Amino acid sequence: MTTVRTRIAPSPTGDPHVGTAYVALFNLCFARQHGGQFILRIEDTDRQRSTAESEHMILDSLRWLGLEWDEGPDVGGPHGPYRQSERGDIYARHAQQLLDAGHAFKCYRTSEELNELRESRKAEGVHGALKPKDLVLPQEEIERRETEGWPYVIRMKVPEEGVCVIEDMLRGSIEVDWTQVDAQILLKSDGMPTYHMANVVDDHLMGITHVLRGEEWINSAPKHRLLYEYFDWQMPALCHLPLLRNPDKTKLSKRKNPTSINYYRRMGFLPQALTNYLGRMGWSMPDEREKFSLEEMMTHFDIQRVSLGGPVFDLEKLTWLNGLYIREDLDDKGLLHALREWAFNEEYVSQILPQVRPRIETLSDVAPLAGHFFSGMPTIDEHSFDSVSLEREKLLKLLQFLVWRLERVSPWDKDSLLPEVKQLGDYFELKMKAFLAPVFIAITGSTTSTSVMDAMVILGSDMTRARLRHAIMVLGGISKKQTKAFEKAFRELE
Ligand code: GLU
Repeated sequence: MTTVRTRIAPSPTGDPHVGTAYVALFNLCFARQHGGQFILRIEDTDRQRSTAESEHMILDSLRWLGLEWDEGPDVGGPHGPYRQSERGDIYARHAQQLLDAGHAFKCYRTSEELNELRESRKAEGVHGALKPKDLVLPQEEIERRETEGWPYVIRMKVPEEGVCVIEDMLRGSIEVDWTQVDAQILLKSDGMPTYHMANVVDDHLMGITHVLRGEEWINSAPKHRLLYEYFDWQMPALCHLPLLRNPDKTKLSKRKNPTSINYYRRMGFLPQALTNYLGRMGWSMPDEREKFSLEEMMTHFDIQRVSLGGPVFDLEKLTWLNGLYIREDLDDKGLLHALREWAFNEEYVSQILPQVRPRIETLSDVAPLAGHFFSGMPTIDEHSFDSVSLEREKLLKLLQFLVWRLERVSPWDKDSLLPEVKQLGDYFELKMKAFLAPVFIAITGSTTSTSVMDAMVILGSDMTRARLRHAIMVLGGISKKQTKAFEKAFRELE
């Protein structure tokens, strides 16, 4: 019998997302329950958006949650390298194999030509996907471009019509119409593979037997199935897990909820509580109990118990569960240990010392001055902003624009933050000090405290944005209509 092998394949293009941890958890439990292995692979083929910082945070967060992998870029293993950017020659070789077998073709179309093609199809009311016959150029034109050394991509051939049936472990047979599937690019003009190519080749070479991933990948499955057929490889079993949702049932998004594991860590959630809560997302123990350990989940795991109704990631429930863990599982020694791990440690406190040193006369001045480094949402109400001489609408706009701007700041340090703040200050025609006054209150909860920019850096991106969003709520929130107007103005500013 083949050994069960599962994997998590994150793209290191941002903060470590709770959705990644959720999918990792289910893959880990599935593998362990079958006595199998769980692999971590970094899908960093998007060279523009992938960063080492993000990769580091993802690995660190998953490990913090107790989700250990058997093979991966940091621990090695027999199927490495486990970072796609280091596997370029493997994909090139496989793309060539598809070309030789006539399953793929070189496409010399320029992006202008592709745009024109799309436009003219739109005008004609043709909605289907781009097929090889739409893209292919006359033979002599191909030859000319080839001899002149034009850049090209390698695309896969796809059927014109018919139905592709995908078997899903939870959903049964899913039918996708081939007319909707385009002649996917496999290798880009710079020789880098696309997600589809690298994902299929790696899953095969790494011996993956079961692919458990988010339901947003269902539409990729036909392309993957076809690639397995072209290579004459056995396709892993597929299982598309339901997406995590905000309490309003929309897809969990950082605009509405903190989604970064960094936030939950900074906020003081225990890793075992967060892992337990993620295990409750669409899954339940046979006896329906809410509190269970990772070990227990592994023992009792059964993929068929996953229900497909969109699981709601509810902060209040998570907070309740976290409280249970603190009260029931931690004695004084355990709590002390947890507090040390969380923030009362040299590494964290050392970051705060330069902030408090110039402002204290006695050591006891530290607690009131640095309280915001050790708290969640500051205790503020709308009167906390009385000293800010901005009308309400402008104040809300300022806070909201800042939230949006901060979403894209990377790396999260003072050098990257400063230009954003300066630019927004100019936009609102406010001097730096006046611009930062309400931000100061939102972040520190008071009008006198340590430097707000430094506090933002130390607290991290998600905690900073969560506090700004909290301030917006305290100030009465932003209506749907107003949000639309703000979004428009924000886009114009970009
Ligand atoms: N790199 C993809 C992601 O970011 C992996 C999707 C898959 O599991 O196939 O989620």
